[in-house]
Amino acid sequence: MYPVHGELFTHHMSLATWSEQDGWTRPVLGPRRDLVTDPGLIGLHYGQVIFEGLKAHRQADGSIAIFRPLEHGRRFQRSARRLAMPELPEELFIAAAEQVVAADDRELSDDPDLSLYLRPLMFASDASLALRTSHTYTFLMMAFVTGAFFGDGVDAVRVWVNRDYPRAMPGGTGDVKCAANYGPAFQAQVRAEQEDCQQVVWLDAVERRWVEELGGMNLFFVRGEDELVTSPLTGTLLPGVTRDSLMTLARERGLRVTEERVSIDQWRRESESGVLTEAFSCGTAAVVTAVGEVKDGDQVWRVGDGTPGKLTTELRTALVDLHHGLTPGHPWLHPVR
Ligand SMILES: *Cc1c(COP(=O)(O)O)cnc(C)c1O
Repeated sequence: MYPVHGELFTHHMSLATWSEQDGWTRPVLGPRRDLVTDPGLIGLHYGQVIFEGLKAHRQADGSIAIFRPLEHGRRFQRSARRLAMPELPEELFIAAAEQVVAADDRELSDDPDLSLYLRPLMFASDASLALRTSHTYTFLMMAFVTGAFFGDGVDAVRVWVNRDYPRAMPGGTGDVKCAANYGPAFQAQVRAEQEDCQQVVWLDAVERRWVEELGGMNLFFVRGEDELVTSPLTGTLLPGVTRDSLMTLARERGLRVTEERVSIDQWRRESESGVLTEAFSCGTAAVVTAVGEVKDGDQVWRVGDGTPGKLTTELRTALVDLHHGLTPGHPWLHPVR
């Protein structure tokens, strides 16, 4: 049995603060503890809150390494800019991650299916209910041990096409990781579960037909035997580090990678005609998860034979092998001590 995703917290966290006069302090490691704050924080009331999600994995040689922390640190900076928050220097972001991983290394067993999920968070910490940006901010890095995001194993999931509640609009915040994107998505997630599905398919907000994302993950299709298709970064979807990693791995293996918008009707038609052979979602938490069946109103269709396809499985294995250092010295791995 794997721990429930997001609940097996480790025992340390790192904390830094920012003020207008002094800028950022260096992150300081301490025990994970309750926060004592004024109830009138700007972040709490107005959602000036951003986060990230990255992982550290046990390596084949017993050491531990963080996967692509620089890319996550840069995306955290982009999210900060979008919410008029101060950017945390990449070096401090990585230092905080290293502190927590080094302190809690022993909480991660050698089971390669487990990893240490790191959760950086930044929130506006002025006690003020004025509708304005904060003069102080708090940065935290915490962690939990996690196994499979969708319970045990790597079965294909069933997904629900949401035509009712768009996630992100052009010019909005869909391309950054701000807390305010996720609370409003729960309503659709609840609907998906009522429809006996595990995840929500997000369509674009304007035409309500282009497939953008799946839950908190990016989405790929396989066309024929060797073409990988994913939505271009339109500004309304999150530029995933996993998305980027898989595109790179796929190109290295000689696959064709196409960034092209796929409509929901096209997904159905091409699945039924057999042109579209596989679909999978990807993200730091779930890694790579096959989509086996899609429910859109009264219509239900299968993707391939409803089980994880060949390329889905191959790419998942390639990425997981990379996480665990089977290619020693790979530039995407950041060893800790
Ligand atoms: C975090 C996230 C992803 C995946 O990004 P990764 O960097 O691969 O973890 C995709 N979509 C949304 C909406 C996200 O929040």
